[in-house]
Amino acid sequence: MGDSLHDQFAHVPERISGLVDLAYNLWWSWNAEARILFKQVNQQAWKASVHNPVRMLREIPVEFLNRAAENPAYLHRYDIVMRRFKRYMTANGTWFSQEFPDQPRLAIAYFSAEYGLHHSLPFYAGGLGFLAGDHLKEASDLGLPMVAVGFMYSQGYLHQHINPDGWQEGITEPVDRTAAPITRVLDASGEDLVVRVPHIDPPIYVGVWKVQVGKVPLYLLDTDIPCNDAHNRGISSRLYTGDLEQRLRQEIVLGIGGRKVLHTLGIEYSAVHLNEGHPAFALLERIRERVEGGMDFEEAFREVRATSIFTTHTPVPAGHDVFPVDLIDRYFRTYYPSLGIDRTRFLQLGVHPENPGAGFNMTAFALRASAHHNGVSCANGTVTRQMWNCLWPEMPETMVPIDHVTNGVHLPTWLNHRVKDLYDRYIGPTSPDWLSEHDDPAVWELIDEVPDDELWDVHLHLKGKLIHRIRERERIKWATHSRGTSNPAAEGAFLNPSVLTIGFARRFSTYKRAHLIFEDLDRLKRILNNPWYPVQIVFAGKAHPNDNDGKRVLQMIYRYAQQPEFGGRIAFVEDYGEQVAQYLVHGVDVWLNNPLPPMEASGTSGMKASLNGVLNLSILDGWWIEGYNGRNGWAFGEAATDREARNTVDAAAIYDLLEKEVVPLYYDRSIDDIPHGWVKMMKESIKSNAPRFSSRRMVKEYATRYYPSFLAAAGAAYARTPAAESRRLPTWGPRVQGTGADDPSSP
Ligand SMILES: *Cc1c(COP(=O)(O)O)cnc(C)c1O
Repeated sequence: MGDSLHDQFAHVPERISGLVDLAYNLWWSWNAEARILFKQVNQQAWKASVHNPVRMLREIPVEFLNRAAENPAYLHRYDIVMRRFKRYMTANGTWFSQEFPDQPRLAIAYFSAEYGLHHSLPFYAGGLGFLAGDHLKEASDLGLPMVAVGFMYSQGYLHQHINPDGWQEGITEPVDRTAAPITRVLDASGEDLVVRVPHIDPPIYVGVWKVQVGKVPLYLLDTDIPCNDAHNRGISSRLYTGDLEQRLRQEIVLGIGGRKVLHTLGIEYSAVHLNEGHPAFALLERIRERVEGGMDFEEAFREVRATSIFTTHTPVPAGHDVFPVDLIDRYFRTYYPSLGIDRTRFLQLGVHPENPGAGFNMTAFALRASAHHNGVSCANGTVTRQMWNCLWPEMPETMVPIDHVTNGVHLPTWLNHRVKDLYDRYIGPTSPDWLSEHDDPAVWELIDEVPDDELWDVHLHLKGKLIHRIRERERIKWATHSRGTSNPAAEGAFLNPSVLTIGFARRFSTYKRAHLIFEDLDRLKRILNNPWYPVQIVFAGKAHPNDNDGKRVLQMIYRYAQQPEFGGRIAFVEDYGEQVAQYLVHGVDVWLNNPLPPMEASGTSGMKASLNGVLNLSILDGWWIEGYNGRNGWAFGEAATDREARNTVDAAAIYDLLEKEVVPLYYDRSIDDIPHGWVKMMKESIKSNAPRFSSRRMVKEYATRYYPSFLAAAGAAYARTPAAESRRLPTWGPRVQGTGADDPSSP
């Protein structure tokens, strides 16, 4: 961490100045003892900062810091946590170093248009971002040499406000850069680093920020800098702009600019992992770098291809970016010759064989320019092979070279700390390293040791916390807004912690079918209002700002929630994000998921829920096809029906399951008031899902499957590089990994 940062926090007493380093490394976000360290300085300040240590350290009265620095009990804890942090950052005995001993530490550059890491960094829209965020955290835990590139969106993603009529109003709040755990990357002379996106005309410049995700640095590109004109400054203002030209410019900046930034930071040789097609131009830039070094295009293309992996999620053609040829011409006319090819050859790279006139298809290009491609669940792999068979017309569909690596979630991020404490108590004695071995199913057999009443008590505590929090938010809203602008019933004021609680939270894309459970209103009312066995549903989620269909679905639900006939048992929680998600996946009883198959590429929120003992009631699509085993939750939707009948059939299946299985099991209490059958299913769900749908399993799978071939391909490339370049090889790893003085970004 640079001294300039410590200068900004000169008010933090020397004795505890490590808090500054800790605040600027997201490691604290997945280590409860580090969070507690901030909280213990002052609870109210921690709360007021919305659990953001950087903001807290900036805003807290100095006397609290001084008091902590003089408190022996606090200092004792501080020293322990700082030691652990240091050990984590410098550890050699990682999974990666054991798996790939004596190999050059070839960095993997991970590119993604969004990252879901923590709510203080609102640079995500949904699942794609959380997948990327969890991937980085896990790569850090496993010691994988990774460096990541994304955007510093100056407006963040929208904050959602629901007006009294149930209509979503997006509020954009500029990200407060001084209060986020990000630092400016400086150049050698100590000025803000500015990089020009190469060979793109008219020129675009980017500034760079860094987020330290454990050992993995994430570089965020920022076009909102003085040397850009207003149009260029807006490139990185928000996620996924609907303006096609601006969108192309975003992807140019992310891919080509991102690659150039890595180059400037001295991270020259690396394999590349693309999360979706948005950053695919990074591969072009890798090719250009080689052509510039004297290679011919075809050879450069082969070399780049061999060390690139492309993860695709989107199961519908309309979801892939296609840029019209005239737009491509406008920005790339000076780029074609720099690749050593003509315009025709360039455009061929992005042609969709079934729609050649449409323009430059980012997915088609990414598939051509990477040797390894994968979907994100078994079913998604199948759909993707079907969709892209046209690129390998000579092959039968099953042979299309698109793999799958099923998604997983970062367990230390999504497992509630109280649940973790429980696992520590009962798994720990037999398997002390259970947390680092959590992708081993054998560890989880020990869940049976947890007494039913203890698991149930923790669950009830988390459910109480969720409901308390929803009501408290509503109370504040009610008290601070004039009457009539708040709808207490619709926003959860009547939620009851003893009632079976279903959670439904995700982006309000129409394919997610948030409205499905409202197919038969009378039947739903009967289920919710059953006097002996009541049920309540908590909804949350944002519609994309341009998606009026999604907003209409949201409004419909909000209006139902206001109707007394639904008994106050439907609630809509505003502003779904990382923090609301944490409360929901820890605290509801059942996680409902009913997208239109086969649209759910994987789905990850159900995985988060299952770690914490929340049961999945889900359609058989995405991950649940692999996860469901008949004993660990409920499934429906196996029968293929035509699209017209699908809603009716699927909704009826949900009602049937609720009436016949879910509700009776939940309310079947023994004399101790514990639903032992339910708890048994919770244990089965934890045991079967936690090891398999963990990002530890996922990242290991990516690494063991692709890393050896990266090394082989890169090895061949090294053999050809000039001696001067080769001599730099051994330093790549440490330079990328560096967190202090050896870090290229903190000169
Ligand atoms: C996990 C997560 C998602 C992705 O959930 P899906 O089940 O894949 O839709 C979206 N938003 C937030 C805030 C999340 O935490």
